Amino acid sequence: MDCEKDTILITGGTGFIGSHVCYFFLKKGFNVVSLDSLVNSSKKVNKNIDNLLLSEGYEATGNLKFVKGDIRNKDLLRCVFNDQLKKNKPISSVIHLAGLKSVKQSKLNALDYWSNNVCGSINIFNVMKEFKCNSIVFSSSATIYGISENPLIKENEEFKPQNPYGKTKATIEKILEDIFEESYKSMRISNLRYFNPIGAHPSGMIGESPNTTPENLFPYILQVACGRQKELNIYGNNWPTHDGTGVRDYIHIMDLAESHYLALIHLINNKPQILNLNIGTGIGTSVKELVNIFESVNKCNIPFVYKDRRDGDVSICVADNSYSKKVLGWIPRRNIQDMCKDGWKWMSKFPNGF
Ligand code: NAD
Ligand code: UDP
Repeated sequence: MDCEKDTILITGGTGFIGSHVCYFFLKKGFNVVSLDSLVNSSKKVNKNIDNLLLSEGYEATGNLKFVKGDIRNKDLLRCVFNDQLKKNKPISSVIHLAGLKSVKQSKLNALDYWSNNVCGSINIFNVMKEFKCNSIVFSSSATIYGISENPLIKENEEFKPQNPYGKTKATIEKILEDIFEESYKSMRISNLRYFNPIGAHPSGMIGESPNTTPENLFPYILQVACGRQKELNIYGNNWPTHDGTGVRDYIHIMDLAESHYLALIHLINNKPQILNLNIGTGIGTSVKELVNIFESVNKCNIPFVYKDRRDGDVSICVADNSYSKKVLGWIPRRNIQDMCKDGWKWMSKFPNGF
């Protein structure tokens, strides 16, 4: 099916992942409506997406429409769908990325997380139903797996989320399962379970620009590298891993962005289904290894101190990505050195973010 010129809604479109996903779909010729409350991002990124596309020879300017708004506002969502209908450019699919993502904050403000992530998602699903929009790619997370005995986690692993954030993602997946049944299996749904997306577009024109101090490892390393933070806290050097620090599956943001495109095309071109996919490289990297590689690739020094383990952390979390590769024909192409190089390029260009 030819999807070029289809209009898609990307919620959370100005965020770290959302901005790269918007860029990817625009490059593929889609019309994109990006909706974001800007609680953790800036709309300045939209200009950079346009400039980046122009610099690469794409005349996509004008295909990106930004709406500032909250997914908890159902009337606003209806307006967005209605506006597109009136323009004869109905929203055919949703890439749903809007959400709060701090594990720590989710413990301190659990209700906010349930309201924002779960109630907001229910609004999206309801309005999609009203407007007969049947295809959705949802940003789930490896956090839903929690503690696993398996060195490589498969999609059929039991959900054991260790914090309210992870529980909201697991719950949204459960809701989507029920919606699929309710629709007599007529919907097209893909839950992309991201492992640890890092890096930036290689141009350094877009990247991660949170509104508050980041809690994830890589953006924190970037802030230490550019002097915004004094040193990195490494949470635990006594984990049961080869060097005692936590092991994760880091994936380049451009490879991750591509998986959304491939997942949506797969949904559109195949029978209605619900598809759960791990989006990771299958390669584990420890905190200490990531710091060493970052220093060597970017010829800089990342001072660090060891601290106690972080509450709710797991020792190792690495994807078995064989199913995603098989179903989507997706291949993560960039390695950990690329992730460190591209992330630093972004931070060097925009040390204070947007
Ligand atoms: P991000 O904070 O950069 O992007 C999320 C965006 O959603 C932000 O721009 C924020 O302003 C917006 N948003 C939040 N609540 C909203 C609301 N109620 N209405 C409208 N917009 C709202 O984070 P990200 O890293 O780009 O993550 C995108 C999605 O992927 C999130 O749902 C996150 O939980 C999920 N995810 C991220 C990671 C990761 O490591 N980055 C891993 C797994 C899953
Ligand atoms: N981590 C760390 N210092 C930080 C942030 C994270 O040592 O400032 C560790 C954390 O304990 C984990 C790894 O880095 O082992 C990845 O953490 P992140 O929060 O980036 O991802 P997640 O834990 O959600 O997979």
